[in-house]
Amino acid sequence: MTQNPKFVILLGPPAAGKGTQATRLSEHLNLPHVASGDLFRYNLKNETELGLQAKAYMDRGALVPDDITIAMVLDRLSRPDCAAGALLDGFPRTLAQAAALDKALAEKGVAINGVLNIIVPDEVLVERVTGRRLCRTCGEPYHIKFNPPKVAGICDKDGGELYQRDDDNETTVQNRLKVYWEQTSPLIGYYQNTGVLVDIDGNQDIDAVTEALKAAVINL
Ligand code: ADP
Ligand code: AMP
Ligand code: ZN
Repeated sequence: MTQNPKFVILLGPPAAGKGTQATRLSEHLNLPHVASGDLFRYNLKNETELGLQAKAYMDRGALVPDDITIAMVLDRLSRPDCAAGALLDGFPRTLAQAAALDKALAEKGVAINGVLNIIVPDEVLVERVTGRRLCRTCGEPYHIKFNPPKVAGICDKDGGELYQRDDDNETTVQNRLKVYWEQTSPLIGYYQNTGVLVDIDGNQDIDAVTEALKAAVINL
C-alpha cells in the first residue's frame, strides 16, 4: 500500500540545530531534506541568476524576498523525489511563505503533517553560529567545540573540506536573530492554530534532541 505523502517542517531560530537534525530525521522518515538556505548556497556557488539575487540579502542576514524564495522551494517540492513528501528546513520563514506552502499542498490534496519547533535561547545560538563549520561537499554541519569532526577541518562522511559561512559572524547573527523574532516567530502561533506544532527542547545534546524529534514524529 502506498503511504500518504508526509510534509514535516523543522522550525527554529538560526543555528537551533535544524540542519544537524535534518540529516538524521530525513533518514529516519525516509524523506528528502529540503533546506532553503542550502538551495540558496548551491545557487550562489554556481553563480546562477537566483544566487546573485539572493547574495546581498544573505550577506547581511536579511530574508530573501518571498516571491524569489517561494518560487525556488515550490520548484524543488515539485520534483519526483518529493512525491512522498519532504522534511523542510528553514522554510517557511514568513507568514506569506507559510500561506503559499499551504496553498500549494492543498492543490495536491495534502497538508503539513507536523511542525517541530526547536527551542534554544538566543545566547546559546550566538556561540553555535560562530563555531559552525560546514562540509563543502555534502553541507553537513559541524561545530568546533560541540560537534567537532574526527579530524580537524575534514568531514567525517566524505573527507570534504570544512569551511565557515560568510554570514556566520557575530554581527550578522544579531540581525538574523532580530529577523527571526520579527518575521519567523509568528509562525509558531500560525501552526499552533492548525494543531500541528510540537515544541522540542533544542538546548540539550545533539543525540537527546534527535530522540525527542523521533518521539514527536511517531504519530505523524
Ligand atoms: P540550523 O540548521 O538550525 O541553522 P545547525 O544544524 O547548522 O543549525 O547547527 C548550528 C551549529 O550548532 C552547528 O555548528 C552544529 O554543529 C551545532 N549544534 C547543533 N545542534 C547542537 C546541540 N544540540 N548542541 C550543541 N551544538 C549543536
Ligand atoms: P540558513 O541556511 O537557513 O541559515 O539560511 C541562510 C540565509 O539564506 C538566510 O539568512 C536568508 O538570507 C536566506 N534564506 C534561507 N531560507 C530563507 C527563507 N525561507 N526565506 C528567506 N530567506 C531565506
Ligand atoms: Zn561532507
